[in-house]
Amino acid sequence: MKKMIVVGSGILGASAAYHLSRSAADVHVTLIDAKHPGRATDAAAGIICPWLSQRRNQAWYRLAKRGARYYAQLTEELHRLGEHDTGYARVGALSLHTDPAKIEQMRKRAEQRREDAPEIGEIEVLDNARVRELFPLLGEGYHAVRVSGAARVDGRALRDALISAARRNGAEVVEGAAVLEVERAERGEHAQLDKQERGGEFAATDAGGRVTGVIVDGRRLPADEVIVCAGAWAGELLRPLGVHFRVTYQKGQILHMQMPNERSSGRWPVVIPPTDQYLLSFEDGKMVVGATHENGVELSDTRVTAGGVHEVLSKGLALAPGLADGEPGEVRVGFRPFTPGFLPVIGRVPGWAGLITANGLGASGLTMGPFLGRQLAKLALGLEPDLPLDDYAVEKALGEG
Ligand SMILES: Cc1cc2nc3c(=O)[nH]c(=O)nc-3n(C[C@H](O)[C@H](O)[C@H](O)COP(=O)(O)OP(=O)(O)OC[C@H]3O[C@@H](n4cnc5c(N)ncnc54)[C@H](O)[C@@H]3O)c2cc1C
Repeated sequence: MKKMIVVGSGILGASAAYHLSRSAADVHVTLIDAKHPGRATDAAAGIICPWLSQRRNQAWYRLAKRGARYYAQLTEELHRLGEHDTGYARVGALSLHTDPAKIEQMRKRAEQRREDAPEIGEIEVLDNARVRELFPLLGEGYHAVRVSGAARVDGRALRDALISAARRNGAEVVEGAAVLEVERAERGEHAQLDKQERGGEFAATDAGGRVTGVIVDGRRLPADEVIVCAGAWAGELLRPLGVHFRVTYQKGQILHMQMPNERSSGRWPVVIPPTDQYLLSFEDGKMVVGATHENGVELSDTRVTAGGVHEVLSKGLALAPGLADGEPGEVRVGFRPFTPGFLPVIGRVPGWAGLITANGLGASGLTMGPFLGRQLAKLALGLEPDLPLDDYAVEKALGEG
């Protein structure tokens, strides 16, 4: 039986562990998580709507599109396995603008993208009256393009459902901070490892060798493959190997609110304004207003700040004056992990046998995470991924930059 360890149980690691655990291969899966304050999956808003994005990077869009599409299959599968709370709801999205010309551009973009992404669903242009029927807290002046296939997902609920399903399949879950255990190779020995184990897939480097497992709180856990899904903390984890992994992070503060008497809010669409803000509603009047985009902050700085709350609340109230009657509640803080070019990376780590990683899911990690986790499992099991991964080579995130 092969032993596989996944380090990090955010959306990415939870998905990788689930997909490994459900494979027909004889695999024992261990999922390890340190529960760092500021983990992204715990704080995320949960918008699944990549098709209206103006980002031109095609490699990014391919992943985001596949990620959004994969939700229908994954959530149905989890339901069948008895995981009924996946946190996923296909409520549609309203992409807002006050300028009708911009609305028309958005509509055209959505129509074009629907050609190879039918999961976008219906596309319609709405006037302000209709917009406010669908989301009564919004202000005057906004028109919208509505896409019916957009969704929201509660990242915590989906992560927990994936972990629970993985456990049912026999996966072990360990709490604690993992340190990688390695066998360093001499030059010659490493070249041999490279040839034997990986068929020459990665270039031998002077440093390098094999990752043989992890150590958690003094406990040794050996493994044939270690899959690192450590988000913003991956750089720290890989550094002792001499691997300079360039992951940066952006702090986000996001406000949860409670509205009185909004019993139908569970069906309201996700709201995407023309700014960097957004607004989501959940059952029984629960609203999520977000978020800040703070760069240059220490990873240890998980504080809720007056400036952060002020920014989110003032932009939120300008967009949706109806929020004024709501009660501010919890503010969640998370670090969006980014790799160079704002493009995720996935694959084997060059020079190290037994080490696979993915990272850089950025601001759209709930959208891509479940799909990328499945690709990680395929890589570990030696299976063909669902799409070519060359554009996302781990090499792109290595080196001094
Ligand atoms: C405010 C905010 C709003 C967002 N909104 C959206 C959205 O609307 N739509 C969307 O698609 N995405 C959104 N995102 C992005 C998304 O949340 C992230 O891209 C995604 O959650 C990243 O997942 P991850 O598993 O890579 O990282 P994380 O969720 O950060 O998980 C990494 C895990 O690794 C663990 N770990 C690290 N090092 C170790 C170690 N040595 N040993 C053990 N465990 C370790 C950590 O404790 C953590 O649990 C948002 C993010 C934020 C912060």
